[in-house]
Amino acid sequence: MFPKPRVKLYYKMMPTTLKFAIIHPMPTKSAPTTQKSLHELEEIAVELRKSVIEMLLEAGSGHSAGPLGMADVFAALYFNILNINPNNPTDPTRDRLVLSSGHICPILYAALAHAGFFPKSELKTLRKLGSRLQGHPHFGELPGIEATGGPLGQGLSQAIGMALASRLNNQKYEVYCLGSDGELQEGQTWEAAMFAGKNRIANLTWIIDRNNIQIEGYTEDVMPLEPLREKLEAFNWYVIDIDGHNLEEIIDACNMSKAIVERPTAIIAHTIPGKGVDFMEYKFEWHGKAPNDKEAKAALHELRTLKGRIESEHE
Ligand SMILES: [Mg+2]
Repeated sequence: MFPKPRVKLYYKMMPTTLKFAIIHPMPTKSAPTTQKSLHELEEIAVELRKSVIEMLLEAGSGHSAGPLGMADVFAALYFNILNINPNNPTDPTRDRLVLSSGHICPILYAALAHAGFFPKSELKTLRKLGSRLQGHPHFGELPGIEATGGPLGQGLSQAIGMALASRLNNQKYEVYCLGSDGELQEGQTWEAAMFAGKNRIANLTWIIDRNNIQIEGYTEDVMPLEPLREKLEAFNWYVIDIDGHNLEEIIDACNMSKAIVERPTAIIAHTIPGKGVDFMEYKFEWHGKAPNDKEAKAALHELRTLKGRIESEHE
């Protein structure tokens, strides 16, 4: 599923006081409130994608590619990994999820609504005047939102603050920061990465949506990021590359992150932007665009029929 710890490499790279990754055989910290099976998670991911399309159509603006590409990660997090309780969203012991790439919030809102944090009917108020579901997440209004997002590159710093607070308060929760690859062009990201590595913030998991696009093109054309894995390792992070659409790999990587006790973990989730809707997949043009009526109808048909493999009772 994911590479075993590169003990020999660490041995060469690390100071003598920290020669190799210390790994617990099983996660020892928080446990999720609900754990859906892989099959259930697959179905949930499709439902989340459908909600995203419906929300964007209703709003008439917003981002399509990122939310669709991260639907599997969100399904795994909110329905298998996170220790959260929609009936007690401010429980001090809950896991925290900071969405740094705030523009993909339709998938965050969809996951929260499907998990029971607020009524699903509210999803259709996305980007409306007075709605709690604005174009970027706003802390303090909607249950389940842990941080305000929008200005790119700031989420990792916020997540580090939360993770440090847990250490100071002697609490055991996990903090997850979800960011994008294009966002790595923000300098603050690397300051935060350096800080977390130096301070061995082990209850921090940084999931990077490696979809290779950003609003104006392909990341490697705009500002090359590779070799990304080696860069993060050089900052003293434990790094796992995964297929961001393989639910088992997502869950295994997050459990591995919990088991690593002496350094922060970065999960590079290789995803397909627009995943699930053929005419959106791999196209950076859909980064910041919402579907029109015709496009939304085609997208929903594709999602309902799993690309024509099954008949839909909704057709
Ligand atoms: Mg991207």
